Amino acid sequence: MADTKRIYAFGGGQTEGGKDMKFVLGGKGANLAEMANMGLPVPPGFTITCQTCMEYYNAEPPAFPEGLAEEISANVAVLEEKMGKKLGDDSDPLLVSVRSGAAFSMPGMMDTVLNLGLNEKSVQALIAKSGNERFAWDSYRRFIQMFSKVVLDADGDLFENAIVKMKQDRGVENDTELTADDMKELVADFKRLVAEHVPAEEFPQLAVDGAVVFPQDVSQQLHLAIEAVFRSWNNRRARDYRRMEKIDDDLGTAVNVQAMVFGNMGETSGTGVGFTRNAADGTREYYGDFLTNAQGEDVVAGIRKTRPISELPDVLPEAGKELYRVFEVLEQAYRDMCDIEFTIQEGKLWMLQTRIGKRTARAALKIAVDMVDEGLITREEAVMRINPAHLDQLMHPQFDTTATYDVLAKGLNASPGAAVGEVVFSADDAEAAAAEGRKVILLRWETNPDDLHGMVAAQGILTSHGGKTSHAAVIARGMGKPAVCGAEALKIDMKAKQATVSGKGVVLKEGDIISIDGTSGIVVLGEVALVQPDVSGDMDTILAWSDEFRTTGVRANADTPDDAALGRTFGAAGIGLCRTEHMFLGERKDIIQDFILGESAEVRQRALDKLLEVQTEDFLGIFSAMDGLPVTVRLLDPPLHEFLDSPRDLEVEIVRAECGGASAEQLAPRRKLLAQIDAMSEANPMLGLRGCRLGITYPELYALQVEAITRAACELKKQGKDPRPEIMVPLVSVKAELATLREEIETVIVRVSQECEVDIIIPVGTMIELPRAAVCADEIAEVADFFSFGTNDLTQTAFGFSRDDIESKFLPKYLERKVLPRNPFETIDDGVAKLVSMGCERGRSTNPKIKLGVCGEHGGDPESVHTFYGIGLDYVSCSPYRVPLARLAAAQAALAETAQGSDNR
Ligand code: PEP
Ligand code: MG
Repeated sequence: MADTKRIYAFGGGQTEGGKDMKFVLGGKGANLAEMANMGLPVPPGFTITCQTCMEYYNAEPPAFPEGLAEEISANVAVLEEKMGKKLGDDSDPLLVSVRSGAAFSMPGMMDTVLNLGLNEKSVQALIAKSGNERFAWDSYRRFIQMFSKVVLDADGDLFENAIVKMKQDRGVENDTELTADDMKELVADFKRLVAEHVPAEEFPQLAVDGAVVFPQDVSQQLHLAIEAVFRSWNNRRARDYRRMEKIDDDLGTAVNVQAMVFGNMGETSGTGVGFTRNAADGTREYYGDFLTNAQGEDVVAGIRKTRPISELPDVLPEAGKELYRVFEVLEQAYRDMCDIEFTIQEGKLWMLQTRIGKRTARAALKIAVDMVDEGLITREEAVMRINPAHLDQLMHPQFDTTATYDVLAKGLNASPGAAVGEVVFSADDAEAAAAEGRKVILLRWETNPDDLHGMVAAQGILTSHGGKTSHAAVIARGMGKPAVCGAEALKIDMKAKQATVSGKGVVLKEGDIISIDGTSGIVVLGEVALVQPDVSGDMDTILAWSDEFRTTGVRANADTPDDAALGRTFGAAGIGLCRTEHMFLGERKDIIQDFILGESAEVRQRALDKLLEVQTEDFLGIFSAMDGLPVTVRLLDPPLHEFLDSPRDLEVEIVRAECGGASAEQLAPRRKLLAQIDAMSEANPMLGLRGCRLGITYPELYALQVEAITRAACELKKQGKDPRPEIMVPLVSVKAELATLREEIETVIVRVSQECEVDIIIPVGTMIELPRAAVCADEIAEVADFFSFGTNDLTQTAFGFSRDDIESKFLPKYLERKVLPRNPFETIDDGVAKLVSMGCERGRSTNPKIKLGVCGEHGGDPESVHTFYGIGLDYVSCSPYRVPLARLAAAQAALAETAQGSDNR
């Protein structure tokens, strides 16, 4: 026997677990136990722990741990006792389901086997006992179908095709119209398919005369099914999903073995999935789908047209009433919106699963705000419940309301947001197109877990089949991707990679541009203009509460008045990084080229004068948009040759001109330019003449920028406005760089403000984005009013990873081989965070008043915001669209610490 308990029973008057045990029993097992504890109708069963799954994997090769088979048999015996039936019995057989269930919900990613325990003898017993021959044969054919696919790895299409053919032969549309004899015939067909298609060498224990015989021994069925569920923890889609959701690979899945109840026993039976509130928009109403005379998988598979749960009381009044009661009990107990699976067997309701329901961001906000109003949860809990990454969903584009378009097709509004892209018909095509940088919409009849990589790659998902709880809908909502489901007018021809649109005479071909709106369910041929939504209503309420709880400031990274205004609308308390190099592009590139390459002082001065004029205009716009709030302007940072013509293009131009007969004399100026540009090129421009090194090398360039900043600020002050610029020097590594530049900067500020006759104080600080700067931050802080950690360059230089190349080069391998837990340019790495922490401590040690922020991409990453809160930064700065999620993440970090503090007390 194992030292730790491997199996926990539930239901039937003896339950050993509860809802807090999800890391042992998985979410499904823990919640089944909880529902049984609450007295809700749960068919009895037992749960094999997640740790047992890892024991299985830790064996070499993977195998059941010693003693597990005996423990399973003992628990089967207890279950048989509770049910008064025996597995494989030839008079009253017990049938069980075998389901996966990890600590974190991984919908549809792992495997399940239903109706286990049927064989040639027990099917006869089931007929006799139920008096329902069709039901018994239907259950048996379902069992063979699922077991063969999941356990024996047979191609699921073999069985589906056999059913389709049977329906065609009988001239019926639905499988419910097939008779008992038809089902019996399918059983025989399926067994033949198993013998023909499952390789005997892979299942020697099932082979007779070189062919696999569908197992008749029920304990063998059970053990094989449990092992298959263990194995499904590591199938490709489960691994992909875990990587996407950042779920640990070492958690393992639990296996739930549970007495079957049957939704396919006729019209008083049924099955469904539901939510205690509307999972799409959060409205307080029961939400979901059901089918009569069906088993669980039929609802999510989208094979038959489901009915909304609001119609259940009309169809099965008793069960409907009971279900609504259960909904209320669950919401009160879990104090959250729950998602459930249920089966009705001959009028009686059974609960098969519950968990905290997945929801769209919009629904999450509404439910949290409503539950505070209802007195069910506190405002702190409401803030803690919103996933900051999911706020991105609401920051997604929508169709421009002023755009005109013809609706090509309508489907269900399965996941909000709008997207535009080329149509592709397979997940692999979506992945390949996205790798080339193309935007695509994945169009499928219905998605299944094997499509996950394509869904990740696509901008949006469109299906011609399936409801709001179909795979595509659930997964898209979880990913925050727009999805339109069940657009039935689309008739897909997978082979031809095209879809005809009924009633429209349109054929959609691979590569055609379409637009989808997952908020309204609309599909449009061609590109519709998209706009960003605003952050009012429930989002505003949650963010206002967040602002009360957070102590970390949030600013925006913005380089234009429009972006500055957007950041302000989203709640930014200023600009943490205004990158001025973007102001030197377009037509201004020529001016700066004149400055860099101009041979006479006159030409260079003329270029500077022009730049001063346009830069002052830029700052007038930005400071006005952020009136009253700080704007950290970073002086020029990138290597200068980025502003010069491309030498490759220039060379091509020269060769072309030469071939066209241009003389050496005519070509001389171009050749000279090329030589000048070549002379400026560097082997490692990222480590070259950039950042403050430009300011040291070309003092007039920084002086010009400081003059523009000061002039703009003075001008606005004269107009009665309140501009608050801060000047930031990039890429400092030694104190002397900043000290030298600071002196020059202050000289310009004094000169210009005196000329303008305006009193102005402009703080001068630096970015900390090189390891030496972090280590010597105490020295640098003596001449800095503030530090802003540039964690993009700090990550680049701490690791020595090129930030521009890593993602397309070796990072994927590093992640796959777990050399790194995640992309360090997305979520701050522990080592880089230590440099930030050291920089803060050392900076404060010599300059206690120094202001500390971060402006790398990490400032908008929720997990990194937690790290920065822990380090004690004063603010984070991120792209305007990420400002709301940074506000929320900062509040959650502060609240989490308070909660931890009170736990420790
Ligand atoms: C950084 O390095 O983190 C930073 C914000 O600067 P940039 O991305 O412009 O190099
Ligand atoms: Mg940088």
